[in-house]
Amino acid sequence: MTSLLTSSIDQDGIATITWDMAGHPMNVLSEAALEAFGEHWSKHAENDAVKGIVVTSARKEFIVGADINMLWKMRSYDAATVFSENQRLSQFFREVETHPKPTVAAINGDALGGGFELALACRYRVMAEGAKLGLPEVMLGLLPGAGGTQRLPRLIGASEALQYLTTGKNMRADKALTFGVVHEIAEDVISAAKTAILEGKVPSKAPWDEANFTLPKEQPQSPEWTQTFAGAGAMLRRQTQGNYPSPQRIMACVYHGLQLSMDKALSFEGRQFTALFMGSEARNLIRTGWFGRNAANRLEKRPQGVPPTTFTKVGVIGAGVMGAGIASCTAQGGCDVVLLDISEEAAERGRKHVEDYFGRQVKKGRITTEKAAQITNRVTATTDYKALEGAQLTIEAVFEDRGIKAKVTAATEAVTDDAHIFGTNTSTLPITGLADAADRPESFIGIHFFSPVEKMPLVEIIRGEQTSDAAAAVAMDYVKLISKTPIVVNDSRGFYTSRVFGTYTREAFCMLSEGISPAVVENVGKATGMPMGPLELIDMVGIDTGHKITHETIKEVGWETMLERGEPAKALEVIDWIVEEAKRPGQKAGKGFYDYDDKNKPTRIWPEVYAKFPSNGAPVDVDDLKKRFLHIQAIETLRCMEEGVVTAADDADVGSIFGWGFAPFLGGVISYVETVGLPQFLADCDALAANHGKRFAAPQLLRDMVAKGQSFYPNETAVAAE
Ligand code: NAD
Repeated sequence: MTSLLTSSIDQDGIATITWDMAGHPMNVLSEAALEAFGEHWSKHAENDAVKGIVVTSARKEFIVGADINMLWKMRSYDAATVFSENQRLSQFFREVETHPKPTVAAINGDALGGGFELALACRYRVMAEGAKLGLPEVMLGLLPGAGGTQRLPRLIGASEALQYLTTGKNMRADKALTFGVVHEIAEDVISAAKTAILEGKVPSKAPWDEANFTLPKEQPQSPEWTQTFAGAGAMLRRQTQGNYPSPQRIMACVYHGLQLSMDKALSFEGRQFTALFMGSEARNLIRTGWFGRNAANRLEKRPQGVPPTTFTKVGVIGAGVMGAGIASCTAQGGCDVVLLDISEEAAERGRKHVEDYFGRQVKKGRITTEKAAQITNRVTATTDYKALEGAQLTIEAVFEDRGIKAKVTAATEAVTDDAHIFGTNTSTLPITGLADAADRPESFIGIHFFSPVEKMPLVEIIRGEQTSDAAAAVAMDYVKLISKTPIVVNDSRGFYTSRVFGTYTREAFCMLSEGISPAVVENVGKATGMPMGPLELIDMVGIDTGHKITHETIKEVGWETMLERGEPAKALEVIDWIVEEAKRPGQKAGKGFYDYDDKNKPTRIWPEVYAKFPSNGAPVDVDDLKKRFLHIQAIETLRCMEEGVVTAADDADVGSIFGWGFAPFLGGVISYVETVGLPQFLADCDALAANHGKRFAAPQLLRDMVAKGQSFYPNETAVAAE
């Protein structure tokens, strides 16, 4: 069996238990590691010759939390078993805390989640300067269920603790010392921990086990207490729209738990943990946000047999909004960038964007001046195609014009070799058609970034009909190089992300034309968990762009065909009106569905929108509107799957959350269908289609799956099998 931790006793009679999990990238609380820790700890605790126990790690980190694979397997347990497993751990930590023999945490590196909770259960804590503490469970839809919601607020007060517990943010060493979360900061944490034991600095009881213990800061039932919880509750509601149960249950743990004895509080915490653990939100957040995204980042779907790419030079053609951002990310990935435009000035403007961007990162303290200079120096601005010689990959981000893109493709192919891959960042033009301009269409691929490039985590890779596996592999390697998340899809008008995202705003246009108040449309959009209301979002993206794409699609596909497929005619009227008649293209022009101030911030919905679409006077059915927004996105995704544009449920889910901000608590578009339940979703489609039109008609794929009793994720725990 591989060794997970070791322990030894020194000449002073102090035992040191060292976490060093062989075969694991990091120290985590796995079932086996916890069992081993329990054995080592009990052996030393029961040994009269041992004066005290130090817990530390031989790795860079201390312990970074629970083993998510272990947690995921527990999804197959019933609630009673989850609760009893939780209490077993909680009670063990309590035993460590209350044992007469002092246990000291020597926190040499990051202590997160269960790792921090273990440290909190030690009666004395020494921390290294550069280490971080944190309880990030909320991000997985859970709460720190091994005493974290109880010990932290008992140390630093309810309001301070809530800020860490409900956001998952980290605490640095200086802050931890000021708060009294750790007792000392030391360079050599192990010897400082041993000294604390030998010098009797470790208290015989945890503060809350002392008879005269009172909470720091606000006291239960005091006016400050009421203020803290009323304020935190309101803020939470505003941020989460009530969609995320974990911060709510964390608040309940702090509110009720601090009024109970520690043992009762731990049991209360365990019940809240279990309720979250069994719920769909935690499942969705863990499955897509953790497993799905990590698998994509690890390039699990990379074509096999293609050797990994070493990037030394990447070309970017078009130094505008997108090209300059692509250059930033590529240079940051450690690669030389040739940034090419039609004029020296345009190319230099793009290079300056890179310099300014990293200058801002320096000001924010995110990177050093030297590092910023090093990255910026990798970018060469030019108008000369010869500079692209020797590049492994070139990405074009010139105007959205077939003719220009064709010229750029030919000029690049003329100076690059057969192994070179050509990527296009087109947002709308099908890849197979653009590849007609290439001599090597097998090396031609879509690499679709989102704006702002530096910030958006997803890149959608689109394979044209002739795109080779080698080209797909190079594109995926590149996305990994720049630390973004790739999904690979097949060619289609709007690919996957833009096609589905468009249905959200189109549904909003339908609602407007039905006489649903614009403010209701916006608020319901946000209430579904989307990052913005649909009108504000299309303003930001550019209504004129949406308008242009719609009319190009009409030209190429034919209006009759589109109507047949369920395209709502009333949505077209709305977009034509705002762009053609009202001449309001969106935020960049300072006018769209919203008015904007001189800093280009939205101030209010343009009053004429209310005048143009007067209220129908009917009572608002919020649930129906929410369902329309979410179902329409899921239906379009199902169509993409049916047509083979998207080939796997996890790609659809990861793409929706990280591409256009679909609500993370729903786990993505397909997890949403699963959360509703496939038979129920099908019944909803039938009802919505009857009430609102053909666009809600259920795809055959869904009907077939329901008939066969299938689901997209047949085995909840299979994803963690590796
Ligand atoms: P932009 O107008 O900001 O930049 C285009 C740049 O291309 C300009 O600097 C222009 O001088 C340069 N250019 C034009 N013709 C050229 C040529 N023949 N050779 C070299 N350079 C040339 O446009 P953008 O918003 O950066 O969009 C670029 C591409 O990215 C388009 O295909 C667009 O559809 C796509 N895209 C845009 C977004 C977005 O949100 N802006 C998102 C995804 C994809």
